[in-house]
Amino acid sequence: MRSFTDEVGGQRVVFGAGTLGQVGEELARLGGGRPLVLATPEQRELAERVAAMLGGAATFTGAAMHTPVAVTEEALAAAGDADSLVSVGGGSTTGLGKAVSVRTGLPHLVVPTTYAGSESTPVLGETASGEKTTRSAPEILPDAVLYDVELTTTLPWPMTLTSGVNAMAHAVEALYSPDRTEDTDAMAEDCLRAIAGGLRARAADLDARAELLYGAWLGGRCLAAVGMGLHHKLCHTLGGSFGLPHAPTHTVVLPYAMEYNAGPGVRRASAAIGTDDLQSLVAELGGPTDLGGLGFDAADVDRAAELATARPYPNPREVTRDGIADLLGRATAGTPIG
Ligand code: NAD
Repeated sequence: MRSFTDEVGGQRVVFGAGTLGQVGEELARLGGGRPLVLATPEQRELAERVAAMLGGAATFTGAAMHTPVAVTEEALAAAGDADSLVSVGGGSTTGLGKAVSVRTGLPHLVVPTTYAGSESTPVLGETASGEKTTRSAPEILPDAVLYDVELTTTLPWPMTLTSGVNAMAHAVEALYSPDRTEDTDAMAEDCLRAIAGGLRARAADLDARAELLYGAWLGGRCLAAVGMGLHHKLCHTLGGSFGLPHAPTHTVVLPYAMEYNAGPGVRRASAAIGTDDLQSLVAELGGPTDLGGLGFDAADVDRAAELATARPYPNPREVTRDGIADLLGRATAGTPIG
């Protein structure tokens, strides 16, 4: 079982199984003693458990997808005289912690329970009046991350699979990013091997869960280190403008984005995943393979293609409106790759 403590880019990282027992100690390192513990409504019990471990800390369990500013304002009101923040959960909860921390300057400890990787990035996406805006600043990066593999065992298999592929997407795009370096290539390949191994083992035991969480950490670091391309642009468009669910959308789109961007980066990614047919691997593991099944309407393909190509991210292959409309049309139907 992996177990380590690291210091990366000004962020302390503790990784292992049963590490939640160190939450008080890690918070104290940041100078915190009276935290506000954040979570989603679904993880209220876990938040209360963590709050009890922290001497009866206050909780706010209203975190929601895409970090609505109205929710951030409620959390700010709940913060009262808190001297620190502890986010316990997935990307939605970490987003709320970042939003409160950047407004208050409070130190921020994250205890991740999915594989989204937001805890490793200085990026915050927020929504107000139905519009999502994203910004990046060094002070948004959480001060410390406490990875406890045991907390991920409650993640249901469908979410384990899609969240794992979400982590893979960061690494795949890092392998063809114009900013890539030898270090990010190595990190991306390590991420893909770890996630693919954990998923093939169907997250059946703590060792497989540890590989998935380790891969999530590396995926998040890839996302923080280099610019993302077509795949992330498509997923941001589909999530931000069409309300599609974050991790399942990544899972359906990634094989199509890899096909579109076929070349040396994708070949390296496929070798690390252990197959050049990610779509079949996802299907074998019971994951989603069509956007239609996620609620995307074929009638919206043209509008989505328009939005996704308006201000494209740097990409190894030219992003054309027709090319993207074709990709989205096939992804909507789940047309097999190849
Ligand atoms: P999520 O945080 O929305 O979690 C989905 C659901 O799973 C929630 O109900 C949550 O409570 C529950 N859950 C989480 N962990 C669980 C566990 N171990 N056991 C049982 N239930 C659990 O989903 P996500 O995919 O982690 O995050 C998606 C959000 O994160 C999106 O808004 C996305 O934009 C954002 N994100 C941001 C970044 C960044 O760098 N800023 C990176 C990745 C994702």
